[in-house]
Amino acid sequence: MKMYVAGKWINKAATVDVINPYDGSVIDTVPQASVDDVNSALSSAVKGAEVMRKISGYDRFEMLRKAADLLADRTEDFGRTITMEEGKTIVEGRTEVSRAVQTISLSGEEAKRLGGDVVPLDGAPGWEGQLGFTLRVPCGIVVAISPFNFPLNLVCHKVGPALAAGNAVIIKPATDTPLSALKLTEVLLESGFPAEAIQCVTGRGGSIGPALVADPRVRKVTFTGSKEIGEQICKTAGLKKVTMELGSNSPLIVMPDADMSKVVAATISSGFSNAGQVCISAQRIITNAKVYDDYLDALKVGVEAISTGDPMEDSVKMGPMVRADDAERVNGWIKEAVDAGARTITGGEYSGAMHQPTVIADVKPDMRVSCEELFGPAVAVTPFVDIDEAIHMANDSEYGLSAGIFTQDIDWAMKFASEVHSGNLMINSGPQWRADLMPYGGVKDSGMGKEGPKYAVNEMTELKLVVYHP
Ligand code: NAP
Repeated sequence: MKMYVAGKWINKAATVDVINPYDGSVIDTVPQASVDDVNSALSSAVKGAEVMRKISGYDRFEMLRKAADLLADRTEDFGRTITMEEGKTIVEGRTEVSRAVQTISLSGEEAKRLGGDVVPLDGAPGWEGQLGFTLRVPCGIVVAISPFNFPLNLVCHKVGPALAAGNAVIIKPATDTPLSALKLTEVLLESGFPAEAIQCVTGRGGSIGPALVADPRVRKVTFTGSKEIGEQICKTAGLKKVTMELGSNSPLIVMPDADMSKVVAATISSGFSNAGQVCISAQRIITNAKVYDDYLDALKVGVEAISTGDPMEDSVKMGPMVRADDAERVNGWIKEAVDAGARTITGGEYSGAMHQPTVIADVKPDMRVSCEELFGPAVAVTPFVDIDEAIHMANDSEYGLSAGIFTQDIDWAMKFASEVHSGNLMINSGPQWRADLMPYGGVKDSGMGKEGPKYAVNEMTELKLVVYHP
């Protein structure tokens, strides 16, 4: 596909292949943008921001509603594109499209709600006649940098609120998975957004990212990706608004009174969907010693029933990882843990990008499979004795994006909710749970700022205060 810069679909001599992770075939190529292309996108976005600022909230709502309808009409095409470029199963690909429809629809609703507040200035001593109120205005140009693992919906979580808030947006999709973002750009243009209001620049983040992020014309950078790149972007961005949606090694606490069949089902959906490549995947399963062996027995049966293979087949439950070298990395961490005393309960092998769904037990908190973000199809199970120890283990992480607990005891559940330091807290669910309307974002090194259209529009606008002095 071509990329969309300064109101034109353009090719470049230098291209990047888009690879199907399942069979290694080249499914398409995209241009490799240069810093000159970035500058051209930025100059065009300056005009786009001026045009967008003048479009009414109702018109932005109408355009986003149309975009949601077009996405819904093209569910199968988008679903297949996601599966081909990312490797998740076609069922997961279609689900991602239906979530993207929600994200864009919710963003459209927010376009009508960019209100301010009356500020009761007479509450300050001596100021009785002043009338104060706030106005919420667009930032101007938003740069949206997205990861590979949800190549459509995570782009929608940035582009939807940015356009709803009246900004121009420059998308920089992950190089592994740029096609869904390019097709989304087509949909947004078809929905009536002005040509300069959207750009989609493809190419390596390492070479074009700094030029995009450092430019003073950009007023907001919204990034989803790894902690390492997030930190680099924060340093390069300087004095700009930033939202950082970064990684995690999410814990799931299993208390002795948990319903074991529900815990096993939740571990499978939270730990292995999208081959474990979800920022809120269940990674550290902190399991009470009284039910530890029963849990491992039941989990082994459940995980061995996950069918793997060609992600285009409806019956397949888990496809490949995005790259073969990621499968090799995950396997290296598993082998390292086993060498240090952990046990493989099931799985543990890989071939190309396909890594077996894996359970390892007796994992120590300082092993890499536990203390770093694994981002692959394996869960690390560790025993604990009482809830204080479980909460200590859950918090013993540089990350804090999502956490889960299974228990029937309200006191344990509320202790978990108040003491575990995490952006999302799930009671009787795995940590991998998200409704697209909810506030979503981490604490500690999992980032800052919130997504979810209602919350993201706040991050993509500036608040101005007006005071009328009589
Ligand atoms: P990544 O390697 O950090 O890349 C993310 C994006 O940043 C890509 O578009 C990448 O471009 C770009 N990039 C790379 N270097 C850059 C630079 N110097 N300046 C600007 N942009 C740059 O992450 P990933 O491997 O795609 O995704 C996996 C990570 O994302 C995991 O850590 C996961 O936890 C996190 N994630 C977080 C959330 C959340 O909501 N918190 C959701 C999903 C994923 P290239 O592709 O061209 O390198």
